[in-house]
Amino acid sequence: MADVDLLSLLPEELETLARRLGADGYRGRQLATWLFKKGVYDFEAMSNLPKDFRARLAEEAFVGVPDVERVVPSRDGSQKFVLRLADGARIHAVLMPDRDRLTLCLSVQVGCGFACAFCFTGTMGLIRNLTAGEIVGQPAAVRQTLPPETRITHLVFMGMGEPLANYEAVVKALRLLTHPGAFGYSPRRITVSTVGLVSGMQKLAKESLKVNLAVSLHATTDAVRERLMPVNKSWPLEDLLAACRRFPLPVRRRMTFEYVLLDDVNDSPEDAIRLTRLLKGVRAKVNLIPFNAWEGSGFRRPPLQRILAFQAILQEHGITATVRWSKGEDIGAACGQLKESSSKERVLA
Ligand code: SF4
Repeated sequence: MADVDLLSLLPEELETLARRLGADGYRGRQLATWLFKKGVYDFEAMSNLPKDFRARLAEEAFVGVPDVERVVPSRDGSQKFVLRLADGARIHAVLMPDRDRLTLCLSVQVGCGFACAFCFTGTMGLIRNLTAGEIVGQPAAVRQTLPPETRITHLVFMGMGEPLANYEAVVKALRLLTHPGAFGYSPRRITVSTVGLVSGMQKLAKESLKVNLAVSLHATTDAVRERLMPVNKSWPLEDLLAACRRFPLPVRRRMTFEYVLLDDVNDSPEDAIRLTRLLKGVRAKVNLIPFNAWEGSGFRRPPLQRILAFQAILQEHGITATVRWSKGEDIGAACGQLKESSSKERVLA
């Protein structure tokens, strides 16, 4: 039975596989070109590979590109892809056009076990981790639906799940995405987000991957953060910010801090001032995300004036702060809204 997912193998690992299957090593590099550069996943179409090698591949390996089950377009131009994995589990990837950028937001787990209070995905609990092949399978699946000249320019690990809680698979996926012989993305175009798993951040710091890091902060006191993000009990603000200060950032790069604005919870001027103090000594930029309401969340989006006042305080203190009006709100694809309903598409307006 075919049991090796070729999408989870680096070009040099494909060379090793080729030799194990009785072919020359360079056949593995040719295979990598078909898979990663040309997006061809049918062995029969890989015309420069010998017939017997293709037959051996079909026996031993498969290409785990998820099925695109549904594409749900949003009024703002973004598209939510509902992807079906080999075991029937469903995940979401969200494609977001923005001027000359085309960003794909990827999932790393089916569900999520971190239970952030404002996050719809968190209500699912963790079902399982994705494999590296299933992570890179998302851009592979989505690009099949795009015109040949259209390229996904940026990748963000901000969909379902916590990347650093699926550490090995995420790091392997990052190596596949940045390897010149595989997907070949510049690490500058990839952002990994985290709820603030300090142990994972310390490990990631040693990988020399040079991808961008986005830390979900969402509060300026431990009391509020604990209420919003149970992970704060293990890694309180002081430890988290110390880890951020130690994280080796490439020259001229900044760490992003995500801050979801919740009405009357974390959106006061005092919060904004505290945030400026917390970020002292970190090369930081802040993404303010006005909350995307979902039924039963118990939170509201602050009024516009309060959002802009919060932003203004950060800017007065020299911190770059942008307000991210989430994409895909009308299709349940915005930040913290990704969840698959088993019965019918859940639409959050
Ligand atoms: S915000 Fe991220 S880490 Fe928190 S529950 Fe949602 S998906 Fe999980």
